[in-house]
Amino acid sequence: MLSKTLQNAFNDQINHELSSSYLYLSMAAYAESLNLPGFANWLKIQTKEESGHAMKLYKFVNERGGRVELQKIEQPPLEFKSPTALFEEVLKHERKITVLINKLYEVALKEKDYAAQVLLHEFITEQVEEEASASAILETLKMAGEKGHALIMMDRQLARRGQN
Ligand code: MG
Repeated sequence: MLSKTLQNAFNDQINHELSSSYLYLSMAAYAESLNLPGFANWLKIQTKEESGHAMKLYKFVNERGGRVELQKIEQPPLEFKSPTALFEEVLKHERKITVLINKLYEVALKEKDYAAQVLLHEFITEQVEEEASASAILETLKMAGEKGHALIMMDRQLARRGQN
């Protein structure tokens, strides 16, 4: 049985994952508005991944006899300054999520909930990948710039995510 403290912490994290999913969908809509379908593709895959994370936590709370309580999701930003600024936000957001996952893990440690710790190992590993991929894309954007050809090449690269 999940402790009340851990149940609350998991419910908060479900909200963070769903909020992330919603944020990435708003970012995808921004990319679509710039006619960057590759960027939008990458961001829509991100949206699905985040809702997948929320569902994993949802399943775990239920399996452990807890009660999932959904919370309010804030409106995400609609506009970003540029594709590079957008990926700066992606990286910043993933770093924030890493901190939240680590805090959740600390609660699982305090509560001596070993099953929760094992589940969260996957999330901790995932965050390393999330930060690394956002950072790599951001660095390329900074290097290549946002003018014509470079941006089109980047869009083509991001269009390939999920195709192999
Ligand atoms: Mg996530």
